[in-house]
Amino acid sequence: MAVKANVQKLSELDKKHFLHPLTPPKMQYEQGPPIIVSEGNGIYIKDENGDTYIDGMSMLWNVNLGHGQEELAEAAKEQMKKLAFSSSFNGYSHEPVVRLSEKIASLTPGDLNVVFYTSGGSEANDTAFKLARYYWKCKGQPNRNKVISLKRGYHGVAVGSTSATGMPEFNNLVSSKAPDYIHAEPHLLECERGDKNAEHYDKSVRGIIEKEGAENIAAIILEPIMGAGGVFTPPEGYLQALRDLCDEHGILMITDEVICGFGRTGKKFGVDNWNVVPDMMTIAKGITSGYIPLGGVVMREKIRDALIQTDDVFFHGFTYSGHPTSCAVALKNLEIIERDNILDNVKNMEQVFKAELQKLEDKHPHVTKTRAMGLLGAFELYADRDKEEPFAPEMGAAFQVVDECFKRNLILRFIDWEGSNIVAVAPPLIINKQEIEEIFKIIDEALTAFE
Ligand code: PLP
Repeated sequence: MAVKANVQKLSELDKKHFLHPLTPPKMQYEQGPPIIVSEGNGIYIKDENGDTYIDGMSMLWNVNLGHGQEELAEAAKEQMKKLAFSSSFNGYSHEPVVRLSEKIASLTPGDLNVVFYTSGGSEANDTAFKLARYYWKCKGQPNRNKVISLKRGYHGVAVGSTSATGMPEFNNLVSSKAPDYIHAEPHLLECERGDKNAEHYDKSVRGIIEKEGAENIAAIILEPIMGAGGVFTPPEGYLQALRDLCDEHGILMITDEVICGFGRTGKKFGVDNWNVVPDMMTIAKGITSGYIPLGGVVMREKIRDALIQTDDVFFHGFTYSGHPTSCAVALKNLEIIERDNILDNVKNMEQVFKAELQKLEDKHPHVTKTRAMGLLGAFELYADRDKEEPFAPEMGAAFQVVDECFKRNLILRFIDWEGSNIVAVAPPLIINKQEIEEIFKIIDEALTAFE
């Protein structure tokens, strides 16, 4: 009884005082939170009622080492006791930020050796855009201001990152899209390789560069594998084609590794799957496994070098740029990823994950386009999968399946942009075979209930 009363009380207070991000406010206000999470362990979380759920999404694709990792909590505690906060402005420094920067430089490919820190992914992307433009200003090309991104790409919700995000729902909110961001059709490999006769050439990155003039373009940004837009892996050769295109026109290539970074795809970074080295890489989420906020931009040395050749200040920085506690947790997180061979686990579990996805496709008539790289996966639902005939949007097919999973205590994510019905699955990277099978047993039951 006491538990129920507490849940009731928390629910009422939540409705009254907490406006949730990315949640329909009316629904939240009327219904309150679906669950109030109280604790976590491994791939499992528990709510205030004492019910256990499987976290099949690592929450927001970020709790990569799973819940209840005590060493991360200890690292935070130790650092807080020693030095909880210190500024990085005016050149002040501290050991965790220096050690973490060196560690990140050792992990990232090529000469991506310099880090600027933020509190999360949106700030990281806005910082990358400012850096790109400032770099060109320092290089005497101040007209290079425009940024090209991909439709359906997700880059966050700050001014620049929401503008780069290729989803109208984000762009049209209170006129949030700044004009110098242009969205290209994603993954048009032939166009990017220069085939002017290929379909949609004018909407490709190459077509847009020709139209806008390379001399006006600062950077392009893309996720190596699109996450929130639908878990889309680019065709083989696509990242290299964009790298070549950027080199051809002197444009900076930024890859958003906020989801893909730190092992999610089975490699250290998403780009490592294709051996492409961008000019800047943005990071967040998995760098601390979500235990504490931290993000950043990792840049090639040439970008930092351009900045130090002027006497000007780069007027940009956050109070929490290089927060000591966040850096200490990130260092411990990276240490555990190496010590416990997490990347090997991701590679091994990828096979189980793919086999289970295939079984779904074999058994359930509406399931198709199953895909996974590392532990980043998805499947799609079509009314008629052979004819690629979609379900009526008002049916909310992917929502229904995710809801059926939720009723069976599994948390997944539905994606329904532009009439699609995609179900994303991205469990913590510490997952084992039996736990993956547990997830897919529930999805199987949920699909049967949906059919
Ligand atoms: N970039 C990508 C690829 C993301 O998935 C996200 C968040 O989901 C962001 C950027 C924004 O990060 P944050 O929510 O930490 O600002």
